[in-house]
Amino acid sequence: MIALVSARAPLAGETAASLADVAIGSARSGGDWSSLQGGDLPFACRTVSVPLAPLASLLQPFGITLDTLIWCHTAYGYLRFGMSPDTDARCVVRLINGDANRAVSNPREPAWTAQCRMVTFTCVACEHDAWRTAGRRGVLCEHQLPFLTACSRHGAALRKRPPGGAPPSMRDFAKASPQDVALAKSSAHIWRCGRDPEALRCWFATALRAQELRREDGTYAVRKLSTALTAFAQANVSDVRLRRLMALPLRARQLTGWVHGRQTAVHAAFLAVLDMFLRSRSGALHDELL
Ligand SMILES: [Zn+2]
Repeated sequence: MIALVSARAPLAGETAASLADVAIGSARSGGDWSSLQGGDLPFACRTVSVPLAPLASLLQPFGITLDTLIWCHTAYGYLRFGMSPDTDARCVVRLINGDANRAVSNPREPAWTAQCRMVTFTCVACEHDAWRTAGRRGVLCEHQLPFLTACSRHGAALRKRPPGGAPPSMRDFAKASPQDVALAKSSAHIWRCGRDPEALRCWFATALRAQELRREDGTYAVRKLSTALTAFAQANVSDVRLRRLMALPLRARQLTGWVHGRQTAVHAAFLAVLDMFLRSRSGALHDELL
């Protein structure tokens, strides 16, 4: 009953871990889950700290369902692009119930889905908004996505979230580079598209066709795409690890294979860079589609 009384309406895009902390709290966190010690490791890029089924029951008075929690309050929609269908199904079971054998068995994913480091990122302006409108702090999903250093809403540089009950001061606001903001926008977009990968495939196919990187017969100009995409990533992606990963010889083939439907899994970060690349050429905005 105490938990029900203390539950609060979620912020847009707030992580389930942050909601759990507000609704349930933690003996050790003092209402601040980011100060939890090792052993209480949040799942799915630090967005989930307790099983979602009981959390959904607590938040029911606010119209929150299990479905809403999974898609709007965890990084699952982003991470699932890199999962095989089997891992995807197990991951969902683990998100909902808190356990599932081999839920993070994909060797390419474990570091990002069940991280052992406890760094949570935040945007000073988003914290300020939450404090002003909801009277509390909140951790947002899109700030926890891999390789991001900017807030897509405010263009602010993300910073490590300071623990404690009060938000950081607006004096700490610093602008991010336009390239970092563009990657943040593309990453948040890919996250939101997690619910409908087919629609995303269609958009990529159309956008690649418009840039003459997909031919009339449905085949792709893979070599041309590879050269252009690698050069784009070297010039516009700040994270050296992601730049290196984008430069791998088979990256363009992997991406076009996914768009074509031949390949089931590709890491969402690569899709985000492809999205950023195509929009930089066409000028298309994110709210124009899907
Ligand atoms: Zn922000």
